[in-house]
Amino acid sequence: MALWGQAANITQLLGVDLFGLITMIEKAARTVCRNEEACRQISDRASMIRDRLQQLQQVSRFFEHPEMWKPTQGLKATLGRAYRLIIDCQHSSYAYKFCWGSDIADELESALKGMDAWNQHLTNVKVDILFNAFTIIVTRELHGNRNTIKQDEVLRRQADDTAKVAEVLSIPPAFAAFLLPRYRWIASSLQDDWFSDERRVRDAAGLPADGGVPVATALSASPLACAICFDTFPAGRTRSAGCSHYYCDECWRGYVRAAVGDGPRCLSLRCPDPCCSAAVVRDLVDAVAGGDDAERYARFALRSYVEESGGRIKWCPGPGCTHAVEFVGCACDDAADVLCRCRHGFCWSCGEEAHRPVSCGTVRAWLVKNKSDSETANWVLANTKHCPKCRRAIEKNQGCNHISCPPPCGHHFCWLCFKPAGTTRGHYACATYTPPPDAGGKAETKEEATARQARASLDRYLFHYERWAGNLRSLEKARQDLDELERPSVLEGMAAAVGLSAVTGLDFMVEAYEQIAHGRRVLRWSHAYGYYLDPARDRKKRELFDYLQGEANAALERLHRLAEVDRKEVFCYSEAGEADAAADVVAKRFKDYRDTMVNLTMATRTFMGNLVKAFETDLCEVSMR
Ligand SMILES: [Zn+2]
Ligand SMILES: [Zn+2]
Ligand SMILES: [Zn+2]
Ligand SMILES: [Zn+2]
Ligand SMILES: [Zn+2]
Ligand SMILES: [Zn+2]
Repeated sequence: MALWGQAANITQLLGVDLFGLITMIEKAARTVCRNEEACRQISDRASMIRDRLQQLQQVSRFFEHPEMWKPTQGLKATLGRAYRLIIDCQHSSYAYKFCWGSDIADELESALKGMDAWNQHLTNVKVDILFNAFTIIVTRELHGNRNTIKQDEVLRRQADDTAKVAEVLSIPPAFAAFLLPRYRWIASSLQDDWFSDERRVRDAAGLPADGGVPVATALSASPLACAICFDTFPAGRTRSAGCSHYYCDECWRGYVRAAVGDGPRCLSLRCPDPCCSAAVVRDLVDAVAGGDDAERYARFALRSYVEESGGRIKWCPGPGCTHAVEFVGCACDDAADVLCRCRHGFCWSCGEEAHRPVSCGTVRAWLVKNKSDSETANWVLANTKHCPKCRRAIEKNQGCNHISCPPPCGHHFCWLCFKPAGTTRGHYACATYTPPPDAGGKAETKEEATARQARASLDRYLFHYERWAGNLRSLEKARQDLDELERPSVLEGMAAAVGLSAVTGLDFMVEAYEQIAHGRRVLRWSHAYGYYLDPARDRKKRELFDYLQGEANAALERLHRLAEVDRKEVFCYSEAGEADAAADVVAKRFKDYRDTMVNLTMATRTFMGNLVKAFETDLCEVSMR
């Protein structure tokens, strides 16, 4: 890819020079006059980050796509903050101290932690998790690549490919466009075939067999009767598809309209004479067809570039999206999640929403099951949510599953299991399915046993279905919040509320939300997987699965609550009548919040990583034992 050659430095793609920033840190750290040790450590960490980025650059061609780089704006912010701290340390004056609202030593330590987190992140996490805008897991994409092509770009590339082939084969572009769909739009295949057996290619496509240059349409040189309506027309008023069968424009128009009405097959239209195979190409269609028909023909022609590509290029299935995604990886690499520019993630193999690490087969089975059973499930679920303390019907309008019943009740409980939930620690929300007790040795009739099993099976389905659906709602909520957080005015307001001078100090929030979105997606599909673990046969797997999922879920719920609910307390202090809170109190509260959030984001990432790893091996660590 040409782009790859140009992208000598991945950071150029970001519009920021990360490597430049790192060099600046290294240089500045040499001339500080206080906190020397901390600054030296920061400089070391910065060098490590550069090494890691350079390694990543060598193993992945992912970096061709600047949009995949968005989350690394967080890295830039971390480095920028470290740089400014070091610059502060070059001045012995303590005047600078107040710019940060707290002691610079604390700030240095926090910056160091941030850089450690990045180093760990860059070392452990798969390239693709890091750089996808919605952190979709792509399990085997290191050698593959998928380009998103915009629709006008499809048009341009199609025109380019067509023009190139036309030139090489010395035929008009309209004929090249007629031939290419038969070769999945791969120019080299057509050219190979043409140069090994031109006659055969010409015959098959209805081009003149004598080797002459085909013409899209010829006008009659003398007065002729139209072979369809039999009216006679003066010279130049009937036309052919380059063959000897002439029709008036009115009859041509009707012929093309019927063909276009028949769908994309109009792209391989032939002369109306049943014994003639002369190709009716785009130029002829444009010359005779009415506006609507010409437009529809053009649309079919455009779509053929994607739809006749043999699966090499696919339309993004995202709602309202007009992008196409091209596969340019190796053939072995056909199972991966793809992220379109519109932010819709989908599975390259089956086209469903992104579902790594769960297999397409599981997803298909799950969706089929939902089609027949989700109505029942929805009814049951919609009618059974009340506060366990006051019985008030509760509507869940937030992403996390820790619910507090509105005043006067104020009861905290878990939306999923109705257990009381702690406000600070303890039960946040559960993901583990506990099967109902069996008959307990009591003799039961065959009917009773069947009924109990059916009930257990429905319970199990409801359990996973509710969490599968609930995680999507939480994911959507997280996306909305993320969109909101990307609005400069919102960020500026938040920064001002906690006395930050720059909004980049809030990048950790965006990072946390990206982790939340990723975690919600993984958990969502982990429930489809969990449903198909047989309670008896897969008992061992089930235990490991429950354990890993429970850990990941607990971390995610806490992170989500921190981001969603606790955020309000930290950033809206003035509304609570504390407008006069001392600046250092506010700064301290913010710093604590940030540290907790950064740590929790890291923890969640680790737990999610463990869960994903277990899926990738189908929990076989257990079955092997
Ligand atoms: Zn006619
Ligand atoms: Zn003909
Ligand atoms: Zn899209
Ligand atoms: Zn799939
Ligand atoms: Zn209540
Ligand atoms: Zn619970």
